[in-house]
Amino acid sequence: MRYCTKCLYPETKPDLWFDDAGVCNACNNFASRKEVDWDARLDELKDVLGRYKISDGSNYDCIVPVSGGKDSHYQIIRLLELGMNPLCVTATTDDLAPIGRRNIENMKKLGVDFVEVTTNPVVRRRINKLTLTTIGDVSWPEHVTIFTIPVRMAVQFNVPLIVWGENPQHEYGGPASSTTKNILDRRWLEEFGGLLGFRVSDLIGQAGITANDLVQYRYPSDEDLARVGVTGIFLGYYYPWDGYQNAMMAQGYGFETFPTMVEGSLANYENLDNHQMGIHDYFKYVKYGFGRATDIASNHIRRGRMSRDDGMALIKRHDGNFPWSYLGKPLADILGEFDMTVDEFERVCDRWTNKKLFKTDQNGQLVKDRDRNLTKQFDDNV
Ligand SMILES: [Zn+2]
Repeated sequence: MRYCTKCLYPETKPDLWFDDAGVCNACNNFASRKEVDWDARLDELKDVLGRYKISDGSNYDCIVPVSGGKDSHYQIIRLLELGMNPLCVTATTDDLAPIGRRNIENMKKLGVDFVEVTTNPVVRRRINKLTLTTIGDVSWPEHVTIFTIPVRMAVQFNVPLIVWGENPQHEYGGPASSTTKNILDRRWLEEFGGLLGFRVSDLIGQAGITANDLVQYRYPSDEDLARVGVTGIFLGYYYPWDGYQNAMMAQGYGFETFPTMVEGSLANYENLDNHQMGIHDYFKYVKYGFGRATDIASNHIRRGRMSRDDGMALIKRHDGNFPWSYLGKPLADILGEFDMTVDEFERVCDRWTNKKLFKTDQNGQLVKDRDRNLTKQFDDNV
């Protein structure tokens, strides 16, 4: 298996490619930041915001999609600094952890109006189980609703400008045409929103789900979008985005980090809301051979905060361990929410595990240790 010569991304990562020097596009995108004139970008941002600012108090200036995490705090802090009057919108996550709820409450105290939209949890659990089994992604309903709900609210409240956080395609690697873009639209969602080719309409008729259950999962119509003039920008295009720095800033404003490093991760300051994230990240590992620890280590390596060798040692310790718990909630309880046992879960994992990446025995069975951890085939080539 081939890895980026600068960071720890493997060739199996979707939408990743290497240049002639073996450097990945996520590293090259990051390096290109040096050429950016951030002062000019800030002026550009002020210009855009100025066009949407409402001075008579008749409506909000913009919609800000937020989860309550470090980046949400950062987005709000910056927009308030710039004199904006935002309406913050949260799409309720799948299995909210108590620390996630406390951070949402803290975020409101930054001084903003806030709306939280919760989709029917009974239907949501059915979708979690269905998409985990059929496309190997428990978080599919979350990928959809974090994009559709803020856009729907923009239409509902007649607020044309949506200010998103970072463009995930930029640092995490993605087609060049999307990394330079500072606008998120329906096409972006369909192409890069992590929907894995599964459409909302595919749900209808499965697991008792009807069209009526899916209102919030639908992107508004083109007519509605045009009537309100909905448009979106990424704040990460205007500020040199860094999750770690955002976390430090957020903490200064009361954001709470997890007392220990989060399971399967290398950090205690991100993905603190949804108990299902451990399952989500584990599936990335069985499909592509890398997990959240690789993302975080690579992020630090690019910024000179960690050597590649140290990062490698850390990801070997933390990446891809069987997700026995997440944010302290045991796997059996997380799965119990959508009526699945650990044994059933393990069978689904086995179906989605890429046997070209993980060792099997002479009978074709995956080789696991007593904690059900897999064995990589290509560990030595990093
Ligand atoms: Zn790289």
